[in-house]
Amino acid sequence: MRSPLPDYLTEVLDACTDGSGTLADYIPELANVDPDRFALSLVTAEGTTYSAGDDNHVFTIQSISKPFVYGLALEKRGFEAVLGKIDVEPSGEAFNEISLERDSGRPLNPMINAGALTAHALVADADSPGTAIEEIRALLSALAGRELDIDEKVAASEMQTTYRNVAIANLLRGYEIFCDDPDEVVAGYVRQCSVDVTTTDLAMMAGTLASGGIQPRTGVQIFSRPVVRQVLSVMATCGMYDAAGDWLSTIGIPAKSGVSGGLIGVLPGQLGIAAYSPRLDEHGTSVQGVAAFERLSRDMNLHLMDAPMVAHSALRRRQVYGEGSDAVTLLELEGDIQFTNTEQIVHAVVDEPVTTPHVAIDLTLVRTVLPVGRRMLLELMRRLHVDGIDVVLIDPDGDLPDPDAGNGYRPRVVRCLEEPRESR
Ligand code: GLU
Repeated sequence: MRSPLPDYLTEVLDACTDGSGTLADYIPELANVDPDRFALSLVTAEGTTYSAGDDNHVFTIQSISKPFVYGLALEKRGFEAVLGKIDVEPSGEAFNEISLERDSGRPLNPMINAGALTAHALVADADSPGTAIEEIRALLSALAGRELDIDEKVAASEMQTTYRNVAIANLLRGYEIFCDDPDEVVAGYVRQCSVDVTTTDLAMMAGTLASGGIQPRTGVQIFSRPVVRQVLSVMATCGMYDAAGDWLSTIGIPAKSGVSGGLIGVLPGQLGIAAYSPRLDEHGTSVQGVAAFERLSRDMNLHLMDAPMVAHSALRRRQVYGEGSDAVTLLELEGDIQFTNTEQIVHAVVDEPVTTPHVAIDLTLVRTVLPVGRRMLLELMRRLHVDGIDVVLIDPDGDLPDPDAGNGYRPRVVRCLEEPRESR
């Protein structure tokens, strides 16, 4: 059987083709592209890719590089240092507006050019500022899962007309937001914007943010969870510039657009989405890309505020094995252990108390245990122990390392449990 998903994506492309909008021409090279190219790609958090249209067509990443470089700056310099230089407030202004915070000169957020230039400068090491671009190219390649190149022709073309970015960089230097040579920062930033990608690459990058920073295909942890959370928050509030509110309320997917016509969206825990169509609206965003996202969000219930029920699946099975003093209650857990689904396990045990002398908590099918899930599971085990029940933790992958439940109590940890015969 052929998957219906590529056919569905082709249907979306057909329905969203309308030919309105104009090519970005303030970067001369961007006015030379084929205006009719249209592509759509999805990558699931598990790494399955679905694509339709011109998904092999290569274009420059432009502003879609911004959230990833911001993530790199956070990883390298830490939250405090980065937040001290770039705020996280929506500006409600165009991407290239010369707007800085009054008095401090701090850019309002990392998605407008002022913030992106600063993030680029933050990535640079003081002793070798010119190497930031190579580090950024390597990061974007790791996110895409293949080596990406810089389109030097587009970079050179933008350099001829990038007066506004030069002005912004000089202001930032004046306010001492960074101390590097403003021309060097602009040159690096423009090359960062000129990395060549396809929609499949972009969907893979978005998919990495969707799966908590782990590249879905290679399995490499590229960003930590706190950095992913910060990047997605900023994408949700500032990613679509002066259309951010309208975008979030109608489409409901943290997103970032670029003036070459690319557009990415991230549905945390579920999907990375990318579209490409170079005709732009008045905000500098792909007209057909927006239409495709609108359609996907509606058809597939992707609006973030229309959240799926993630809470009911952690306790996969509760089963009693054996009899008498050997009897054990098996609590088999699965998925990501966070607050709401751990609460359900606790609730289940409080509601129907364990009556066997042993309890086995099986984490074999668990993917990740968030800190709150860890605290709640340890407290659950401690309380079972206080009630005189012997607790064993089945944790073959080390999802709950060093299970110190407090007051010197640690449950016994095994890799697997030899299943006694089922009694009911
Ligand atoms: N390189 C472009 C600029 O700085 C990126 C803008 C965008 O894609 O929104 O003007």
